[in-house]
Amino acid sequence: MCFRPSGVVRPVRCPKCGTFNSPNNKSCKKCGYKPEETQKDSADNSAKTSI
Ligand SMILES: [Zn+2]
Repeated sequence: MCFRPSGVVRPVRCPKCGTFNSPNNKSCKKCGYKPEETQKDSADNSAKTSI
């Protein structure tokens, strides 16, 4: 049997502690490690003000 349900979420393994987290989690639920820090400073917006 093929266990390949469509839309299945793959657990993301934390490279720091090895805990499997949901890909929806932005940070590790155990150690709080953030694999992808998507922090956008508002300062970047100011650099775009060119008329
Ligand atoms: Zn972790």
